[in-house]
Amino acid sequence: MLRLVAGNWKMNGSLAANRALLDQLVVVPGVEMAVCVPYPYLAQLQDRPSGLQLGAQDVSEHGAGAYTGEVSAAMLGEFGCRYVIVGHSERRALFGEADLVVGRKARAAQAAGMVPIVCVGETLDERDGGQVMAVIGRQLAAVLDVVGVEAMAALVLAYEPVWAIGTGRSATAGQVAEVHGGIRAWLRAQGVDARRVRILYGGSVKPDNAAAIFAVADVDGGLIGGASLVAEDFMAICRAAADAV
Ligand code: PEP
Repeated sequence: MLRLVAGNWKMNGSLAANRALLDQLVVVPGVEMAVCVPYPYLAQLQDRPSGLQLGAQDVSEHGAGAYTGEVSAAMLGEFGCRYVIVGHSERRALFGEADLVVGRKARAAQAAGMVPIVCVGETLDERDGGQVMAVIGRQLAAVLDVVGVEAMAALVLAYEPVWAIGTGRSATAGQVAEVHGGIRAWLRAQGVDARRVRILYGGSVKPDNAAAIFAVADVDGGLIGGASLVAEDFMAICRAAADAV
């Protein structure tokens, strides 16, 4: 399975900064590269290195209509988005996005022909309380209930421990292995063809820890926040993913 490395620009960028970043970005062979950009820049990203996939960071669960401020999956599709992040922990924590809504957003993206990157992960309190797989199982079950067993196998999942996002404190290889293996086993137990599901790790992946993370079994790529804003760092992470056996 080709690894996927997706950059999550979050609410960063400007027309000028994006152009400078794109001008430095060279597509790395042997890995699938994507950038998930703020909505207003989807038009600018029509002009991007060939082979660089485009994604968004959120999508409406609704198809069309009186939903001020929302952006539909069909709209994202018009700009050539292949991926859309759903259920990022920042959306769950800061914007009150519930498990069920995350499931509906994943369904909306799939119905429009896109691949949702569904984020799951525990807080530090939940980890300290021994709740890691209980929390992730609950988050996954909500998505499975909405999309069903077949469509679940077509998702990309991203394990993003909340305490590792933007903190500079990545999960250890052992922690990543345990959770990725746990997610794969959970999917299998629900009847999902778990071998087909790419499970990304996200949380303070940098050039200096990327190789160790991609060497972990069951890690099929990465979701990269801060480091995706620096072309050289993002490419170094992509090279590490391409080189991992
Ligand atoms: C993220 O936003 O999904 C993320 C993993 O951020 P960072 O790499 O900055 O921790």
